[in-house]
Amino acid sequence: MCSLSCVAFGLDLSVAPKMADAAAAKLMKKPVIWMQGQGCTGCSSSLLSSINPGPEKLLLELLSVRFHPTIMAAAGEQAVQSWEECVAEGNYLLVLEGSIPTRDPRFCTVEGQPFGELFKKAAANADLVIAAGSCACYGGIPRAGITGAVGAQDALKDTKVLNLPSCPVKPDRLISTILYYLGHNELPRLDNDGRPVAYYRYVLHDSCHRRLHYERGEFLSDWNDPKTSDWCLYNKGCKGKETFTNCSSYWWNDGVSYCGAVGSPCSGCSQPKFYEEFSPLFANPEEVK
Ligand code: SF4
Ligand code: SF4
Repeated sequence: MCSLSCVAFGLDLSVAPKMADAAAAKLMKKPVIWMQGQGCTGCSSSLLSSINPGPEKLLLELLSVRFHPTIMAAAGEQAVQSWEECVAEGNYLLVLEGSIPTRDPRFCTVEGQPFGELFKKAAANADLVIAAGSCACYGGIPRAGITGAVGAQDALKDTKVLNLPSCPVKPDRLISTILYYLGHNELPRLDNDGRPVAYYRYVLHDSCHRRLHYERGEFLSDWNDPKTSDWCLYNKGCKGKETFTNCSSYWWNDGVSYCGAVGSPCSGCSQPKFYEEFSPLFANPEEVK
């Protein structure tokens, strides 16, 4: 994973062992508070699908996850007590999954308290705030609803948030970004939307294996036609021309696959415009505009 971080962040591979040592020393039992706002828990599921390191190593050996609504054994008052103790101690990473409602605090509460207020309180004492997944970064799918959903940066204003958008979060990006931060004690270079440049520098279209067909004007129109299954998915709604992501260069699930490789058009899930302004997802982008 440190080698992957080096490649992604443009570092000499010879620093990987040093980075691993530095990160391992600081990573060992680094406290983490993972808060879930308006979301589907898909980002937690995605993290638990991590392969190298696997979830058991990540959660039981490397990190000290002090609060996570889905996987922690404690519940109710006990869970809230763990959250309060960790916030009081400080020196933790705060990860947000899901969005924050702004129209009415009752849309999302924890033990009767407004989620947004609890999140701001936790952010005030955190070493670093990471927004994991599109909802946490920019509001995502909930932004299309009635709750006035926003992402972490809009909720916090004065605190710098590191955004890792996609729906769900890509586990290797999350883990290697944490490794980089702990190894270097600084944020990686971010773009104007708060995303590490290492992962979001180029549009998907630039490295898509269907690109040749795009240039030839060969666009898939029938998913059931095996002769055209490799053709460009633009007419099926692909947003790859305006989506900054490395999905087509570093495939998901340890290189097993990604959307375009299984015939699914990119829905632009790493862009701030997702989902509202890219909808309907399976329509030709020209028609959406
Ligand atoms: S499928 Fe999408 S990303 Fe790939 S070439 Fe076509 S428009 Fe570009
Ligand atoms: S290919 Fe597009 S829709 Fe699929 S995960 Fe990557 S950015 Fe999201």
